[in-house]
Amino acid sequence: MKYISTRGRAPALTFEEAMLTGLARDGGLYVPEAVPQFSREDIAALAGLRYEEVAFRVTRPFVDDSFTDADLRDAIEKAYSGFGHDARAPLVQLGPNHFLLELFHGPTLAFKDFAMQLIGQLFQQAMKRRGQRITIVGATSGDTGSAAIEAFRGLNNVDVFILFPHGRVSEVQRRQMTTPDEPNVHALALHGDFDDCQAAVKDMFNDFAFRDEVGLTAVNSINWARVLAQVVYYFTAATALGAPHRSVDFTVPTGNFGDIFAGRIAKAMGLPIGKLVVATNRNDILHRTLVTGEHRKEGVQPTISPSMDIQVSSNFERALFDAYGRDGSAVAQLMDELKGQGGFPVSQGALQALRETYASGRASEEETAATIRAMHARTGETLCPHTAVGVKVAEENIDPARPMITLATAHPAKFPDAVEAATGQRPGLPKRMSALYDRPERVTEVDNDLGRIEHLIRETRAK
Ligand SMILES: *Cc1c(COP(=O)(O)O)cnc(C)c1O
Repeated sequence: MKYISTRGRAPALTFEEAMLTGLARDGGLYVPEAVPQFSREDIAALAGLRYEEVAFRVTRPFVDDSFTDADLRDAIEKAYSGFGHDARAPLVQLGPNHFLLELFHGPTLAFKDFAMQLIGQLFQQAMKRRGQRITIVGATSGDTGSAAIEAFRGLNNVDVFILFPHGRVSEVQRRQMTTPDEPNVHALALHGDFDDCQAAVKDMFNDFAFRDEVGLTAVNSINWARVLAQVVYYFTAATALGAPHRSVDFTVPTGNFGDIFAGRIAKAMGLPIGKLVVATNRNDILHRTLVTGEHRKEGVQPTISPSMDIQVSSNFERALFDAYGRDGSAVAQLMDELKGQGGFPVSQGALQALRETYASGRASEEETAATIRAMHARTGETLCPHTAVGVKVAEENIDPARPMITLATAHPAKFPDAVEAATGQRPGLPKRMSALYDRPERVTEVDNDLGRIEHLIRETRAK
């Protein structure tokens, strides 16, 4: 199994190479050359299995000979052993034909744990085999950084440095990054905003001497291995509700398009999915694109669902690659237009192809808060603001013929202020996490100065 770039001008790689590389050298994203097919019998056989067994069967053909069966199974077992629910991704019913897929039982209470925990294990195995050390550097507005620190803490052969904007992440998010005491993880509070953090990381990757010296690697959401790990829960949810004998729809609170694109892969493998509904907050570039055919950036507006506040949705490039008949040069040209002119019109044929797979909707701030309040009153279920965006859009798209499954992307306690404002009740952390407020914090404040940040990384990583 080979992976090719969405821009058509980078070498094809194995699974392990694509995982360790992240972004392709031509600026594109890696996708499988061909998607493995599951028969109806293959899918029917998944019903009722442990999450870990489904994860093994679904990821096995994509991983190919990069990892042995035993190593892949070992990585999967370790990845999910710290989750606070035996089902890993349990389903809860919200109303007639509407189900919530709870993806927040991992160690940092957001769905990003599903992918990050697994790639932490796979990175460690690959580095051990290669006898190498790597340094992972990332910028975060909250969820990705905490998931990365939690996944890589204490692993051999890997150092992790996460830059977050000083004073601008929630207390839960900050403590999740600053309380792990393993010497290989480092939370850096940068004097600046999230854009400064991202720019600093980008500059480090462009400093090739530094990049090679420390073995710099990224685990952001464009990494193919992260998308793959997320394909699994589409299978567990759909088979629990009757697939392959009946089809299901999904609604996904969307930012960078990684989570929903995993659903597209599940569908391409043969899982009977009717609609994949893109749910956006008022940063609605993806909804506007599907409605108008014009993909155009506007300024980012802060919302109560901050993990979906995006302007450039990086994994959407993978959807465009499919919609343009896998024409890498066409995609490269669109991405140039997006960068140079702030947007591009989607061709008629490509728009039609996108609409065959994806539907969409948006929720305003008021609608999001109203949905949290209404669901709390009608079902007793407390939604995080991202999930509430999904539930609102899902309700507008329910087809009585098929179950609708909305992905619950974070635990409400991760965003307590927005939830309390909507319901009048402050959501508490799960019991297993209550020590978060007692443990000492360890954080290094840094100025927005590339030379000094690089010096700090050189000096503090293990040699
Ligand atoms: C990252 C995130 C999202 C958006 O997911 P994408 O894969 O970027 O589309 C939605 N909700 C929460 C809570 C997140 O952390």
